[in-house]
Amino acid sequence: MNAPPLYLRMHPSDNVAIVANDGGLAAGMRFADGIVLLESIPQGHKLALQAIAAGQAVLRYGVRIGIAKEDIAAGAWVHEQRLLMPDAPSLDTLPTCQPITTPLPALTGYSFQGYRNADGTVGTRNILAISSTVQCVAGVLDVAIQRIKTELLPMYPQVDDVVALEHAYGCGVAIDAPGAEIPIRTLRHLALNPNFGGEVMLVSLGCEKLQPERLLPPGSLPIQAMGAESKSQLRLQDPAHQGFQAMLQAIIEQAHHHLQRLNQRRRETVPASALIVGVQCGGSDAFSGLTANPAVGFCTDLLVRAGATVLFSEVTEVRDAADQLCARASSPEVAQAIRREMAWYDAYLQRGGADRSANTTPGNKQGGLSNIVEKAMGSIVKSGTASIAGVLAPGERVHGQAARGLLFAATPASDFICGTLQLAAGMNLHVFTTGRGTPYGLAACPVLKVATRSELAQRWHDLMDLDAGRIATGEASLEDMGWQLFHLLLDVASGKRTWSEHWGLHNALVLFNPAPVT
Ligand code: CA
Repeated sequence: MNAPPLYLRMHPSDNVAIVANDGGLAAGMRFADGIVLLESIPQGHKLALQAIAAGQAVLRYGVRIGIAKEDIAAGAWVHEQRLLMPDAPSLDTLPTCQPITTPLPALTGYSFQGYRNADGTVGTRNILAISSTVQCVAGVLDVAIQRIKTELLPMYPQVDDVVALEHAYGCGVAIDAPGAEIPIRTLRHLALNPNFGGEVMLVSLGCEKLQPERLLPPGSLPIQAMGAESKSQLRLQDPAHQGFQAMLQAIIEQAHHHLQRLNQRRRETVPASALIVGVQCGGSDAFSGLTANPAVGFCTDLLVRAGATVLFSEVTEVRDAADQLCARASSPEVAQAIRREMAWYDAYLQRGGADRSANTTPGNKQGGLSNIVEKAMGSIVKSGTASIAGVLAPGERVHGQAARGLLFAATPASDFICGTLQLAAGMNLHVFTTGRGTPYGLAACPVLKVATRSELAQRWHDLMDLDAGRIATGEASLEDMGWQLFHLLLDVASGKRTWSEHWGLHNALVLFNPAPVT
């Protein structure tokens, strides 16, 4: 490949830039502006654009991502070992919010084909979900699901799938300890995801700590609002079940009832404002903050302008930008809620003795990300430029019109835990950016994957849904890519299948349980 040596600089004040060329560049290569590489640098890694003295700040995105440990010459490789990591901004000295006075102009006329639910939410898929109170019933549910798929599902052509909301919770846990409300409300709200059509089918064992009334309190608002017909409950230890076959038969009969109701659902034209899009990244590299994440950020602005809800998450990956987030809060209450969630997470990590250098991963580092500060600055651009309209604590659900717009849904950065919590929040569409590559998918909701580099998009041509690497090569502008993603999202919401759906790839639901296991 003979493309001329190219580096990409994010901000005029930056003293480092990223090597853009596939395969990296060898020592001695000369850039158009005369800078000569002193050593070979892999693609996505940083070169010094000028001499940086020991103790001086290294700037990317116009932000201090590190402090030089030694003198670094112009053209040298600026890697993790040459940098000291700055501390995270103190939560006590964060700026108060400066509400964005001119909101983004409204975007009208965009719609998709979705399934309207009685509670006002809209599904992008039509799925029967079977909830459970405890892991003990999972084996029985697996067998039941197999039978339902082969014997019943073909009779209900309007229903896309049957899934068990499996998890490891429910017993053997300190269920009254602080933090236990997080996994419990997550399970409750998972059952209410818009893609499940307001049908709740619950299977319990009988003796577990998480009793059905605690999982789905009859008096709680969303449960109360549901018709009696749409709820069912079955207990395996019920004396009525004489043996395994009887349990199985009872589950299949209940599934039958719910499938009949779900099969009545039809897609209809609904405004784009009905979308609840969760954005996330995983397997990031230095291109994440350059191509895929800014394109997602542009699309986030389009979605917010169209009245949709966008959830951005991953506390540890935006913690270093806490000051930027608080400055974008739509009100002092929202800024306070951002601070509250970050302080809670700081304490959680401190209690566990977590090492600040544990994120980034080895793959992130090989991809050119030196530390969490650099990763955070690239991660936060997924949230676009809109003001932050609200905050959800882990496991909380978006509710009501007031919650529209850009929301910070506080979750861990772990792909599966974040995805699970975004599903509980009510996500009906998921956008996932990746640089190193991951085949990530969810059974409950379409996951649209965006590659940060064209090389990955070509190598994984039947796993990646969109190639944002074309931004780095100049083949597409950031705006083009953002619009392309926006239109693709509307198509996927209307039923177009993503690659992970095409292949049936999905990861397990993983609950966030900060409370002890007994
Ligand atoms: Ca993640």
